[in-house]
Amino acid sequence: MKSENTKETEVPKKNRFRIADLRGFKQMWPYLRPHKFGFAFGIILISISSILTLFVTRLWGQLGGVGIMGGAKSNIETEFEGGVLGGLDLHNLESIGWTIAIVLVIQASLSFLRVYHFANMTEKMMLTMRRDTFEAVISMPMDFYHDRRVGDINSRISADITSIQDTFTITLAELIRQTIILLGGVAALSYFSVDLTLMMLGTLPVVILVAIVFGKFIKRRSKETQDEIASSNVIVQEVLTGIVNVKAFANEWYERNRYTGSIKTVRQLAMKGAMGRGAFASFIILFIFGAITLVIFKGAALMQSGDLASEHFFTFLLMTGLVAGSVGGLASLFGVVQKGLGAIDSLMELLKEKRELEGLEEEVSKYDLRKSIKFEKVKFFYNSRKDLTILHDLSLEIKAGEQVALVGPSGAGKSTVASLMLRFEQPVSGRITIDGEDVKSMELRGFRKRIAYVPQEVILFGDDIRGNIAYGKLDATDEEIKEAAKRAHALEFIDSFPEGFQTLVGERGIQLSGGQRQRIAIARAILRDPDILILDEATSALDSVSEKEVQAALEELMKDRSTLVIAHRLSTIKNADRILVLIDGEIVENGTHVALMKTEGAYFRHVKSQDFDLQ
Ligand code: ADP
Repeated sequence: MKSENTKETEVPKKNRFRIADLRGFKQMWPYLRPHKFGFAFGIILISISSILTLFVTRLWGQLGGVGIMGGAKSNIETEFEGGVLGGLDLHNLESIGWTIAIVLVIQASLSFLRVYHFANMTEKMMLTMRRDTFEAVISMPMDFYHDRRVGDINSRISADITSIQDTFTITLAELIRQTIILLGGVAALSYFSVDLTLMMLGTLPVVILVAIVFGKFIKRRSKETQDEIASSNVIVQEVLTGIVNVKAFANEWYERNRYTGSIKTVRQLAMKGAMGRGAFASFIILFIFGAITLVIFKGAALMQSGDLASEHFFTFLLMTGLVAGSVGGLASLFGVVQKGLGAIDSLMELLKEKRELEGLEEEVSKYDLRKSIKFEKVKFFYNSRKDLTILHDLSLEIKAGEQVALVGPSGAGKSTVASLMLRFEQPVSGRITIDGEDVKSMELRGFRKRIAYVPQEVILFGDDIRGNIAYGKLDATDEEIKEAAKRAHALEFIDSFPEGFQTLVGERGIQLSGGQRQRIAIARAILRDPDILILDEATSALDSVSEKEVQAALEELMKDRSTLVIAHRLSTIKNADRILVLIDGEIVENGTHVALMKTEGAYFRHVKSQDFDLQ
C-alpha cells in the first residue's frame, strides 16, 4: 500500500486474469496450513455432492422418459443396464421417485455439513488474519499513518478481509462444484449424444459469455449514473450546509443551474443505460432462448428418428440447463477470485511492511529514565518531504527532573522535537541519549512505558471516565484512579456526574469541556507516573476557572519529572526552569524568563508582540 493507492478504498482488481495469479493463494499458506486436512475434507464433500447433483438430474430425466413411455422399456439401451440400478427398477416411476428422495436427503445433509465445515474453518482463519492485520496496523512506524487517512486504512482492510473471506467460504467451494458439474455434465451429455453435445457447446456457452460481457458493460453504465447522482447529491448537501452564504449572496439562481446541470447528466446517463438494458433483453430473448430452442429442436428430431432415448432427451435438457448455469457461474466466479487475489496481495503487502514493533506478546523491558536527556546534533526531515530539513543539528539538554518549555512560532519544529523524543520519528543524523545511552538501543515499548504524553487535542475513548484514566496504567486499582483524578483536579467534576467514574464519555457518551478533557488526560499521565513527561499545551482558550484548574493539575503532574512542554501560555513558560526558543529548527535562545527578557532578543519580542496567550 503506497500513498498513491490510498484514495481507492475498493479492493484493487487486476485487469487481466492469468493462471500464474493463482500463486497469490500460496501467500495464504500460513493461514491455510492449520486447516489443510479440513480443506481436503471439504473438497471431498463438495465433490460428492456435485456428483449427486448430476445423478439426480439424470434421474429426473429418467422420470420424464419413463413417464412418456408409459413404463415401457425404451428401445435404446441406457447406461442403467436393463433399467436396474442396485436392485431398483428404473422403469418404475415410484422407485425412481424414492431413489431421488434418498439422494436428495443425502445431498441435503452433505450440503449442511459442507457449509458448516467451511464456515468453521474460514472463521478460524479470519480470526487469525484479523488479529494479525490489526497488530500490523498498530505496530507501524508513524510515517505509515502520516501517509494515509485513517478511514482509508480502515475501509481498505475491512474490504480486503471480507473479500478474502468470501473467496474461502463461498468462491472456492463454488469453483470446485461448478467445475465438476461442467466437466461431469459435458461427459454425460456426450455419452447420450455427441452431435447434440457439440451443438450445445457451440452455442450456449458462447452466448452466455457474450451475455456476461454485455452485462458488465451495462453495470458500468449504471455505476456512472450512480456516481453522477452522488455528485448531484453533494451539490444539495453543500448548498444546504452553506445556505447562509447562498442566501446572503443571493446565489439561488446560480445554485439552481448548477444542480440542473448535474441532474441533466444523470438523465442522459440513465437513458444510455436504458438503451443498454433494452438491447440486453432483446439479446437474451433472441440468442439465448434461440440457442436453447435450437438444441431442443435438434434433440426432439433425434428422438423422433429413434436415435435418442426419451429419458436421455429429458436428461439432456435438464443437464444442459445445469451446464449452462455452471458456465455462467464460473465466469462470474472468476471476477470474485480476481478480487480475492487482489485483496490477498494487498493484505499480505501490509503484513510484510516494516514495523516499528515486533512480537507484541513479549515482556517489555524496564528502564529508569529519570536521567539527563540530550539531543546531540539531531538533524531531521520527514520522509514525505525530504527536501525540507526541519531540525538542523539541534542540540539540547533536559536534566533529570527539569522542566523545559519549548517556545517558538508555529511550524518551527516544536511538535517534531516531541515526536523525536517519543521515538515516533528517528533522527536522520545525530542522536538522542538518556544518561549517555542512545535511545535507539532501548526496547521501544519499555522505553515508552516510562513516558507520558499529554497531547494538545485530547481525544477520549468511547469508554467511561474510569477506563479513560486507567489507560495510563491498565491494571490500576480504583483507589489509584481516584487519587490520580484528585491530583489532576478532576475529582470534583467527576463526582458531580450522577454516575461518577462510570460516566460514559467520548462519542457514545457525554461531551466533556476542553478543560475537563485535559484534566482527564493529566490524570491518566499522573496515574502512569512516568519519568519523562511530554506536554503539548492546548492553544485553545479555556475559561478562567478551567484555566486555573488545568494549570494546577499540570503543576502537580510536572513535579519532579523531566518535562518537555510545548508551551503556549505565558504562565506555563514563566514557571519553567528553562525556556528554549526554537525558530526554523534551531534553538536561538536558552534561559529563564527573567534572563531572556533581559537580553531583549527573539523571546522578548515574542512576549511583547503577545504571541502567547497572556493569562
Ligand atoms: P510546530 O510544532 O513548531 O508548529 P511542527 O513540528 O509541527 O512545528 O512542524 C515543523 C514543520 O514540519 C512544518 O513545516 C510542518 O509543515 C512540517 N511537518 C510536520 N509534520 C509533518 C509530516 N508528518 N510530514 C511532513 N512534514 C511535516
